[in-house]
Parts: sequence; C-alpha cells; structure tokens
Amino acid sequence: MFMDTANPGGPGGEPSQPHCHSCQRVISPGEPTAEVRFEEGDERFRMLNGLYHDGCARPILSVKRALDMLRGAPGA
Ligand SMILES: [Zn+2]
Repeated sequence: MFMDTANPGGPGGEPSQPHCHSCQRVISPGEPTAEVRFEEGDERFRMLNGLYHDGCARPILSVKRALDMLRGAPGA
C-alpha cells in the first residue's frame, strides 16, 4: 500500500482538493506546488511534511536546507 497523499480523508468529507499545509487554502489545479518531506529527525519537523503552495513552502524548505547543513548531510 502506498501512502495516498491525493486523498485528504479529512473530517467532514472534504472535496478531493489538496490544501496547502501552511495557509490551509485550496491549491488550485495548475498552481505551482512544492512538497516538503523531512525524512528523518524531530517529529516536529516531520509534522511539516505535506504539500504546499510553491511560495508557502519556501521558508520551510530554507529551514530544511539549514538543518541538512547542520547535520552535515552529504550533497546527494
Ligand atoms: Zn499556501
């Protein structure tokens, strides 16, 4: 079974439209998006995993980059 991120499965039977993890607004079809995925580390960071508007994800992705550098992650 794959994790199906396309199905929100949220309470209240939301329509199957993705919501930005940051601003909670619907991500319209065709809007630029970015997926944030913390593979490891603190649970607080993994809670940030999800789909974002491209712009909304930017601050989170820069935090992620900083964390990766702090961890001395290899460039790959
Ligand atoms: Zn957003």
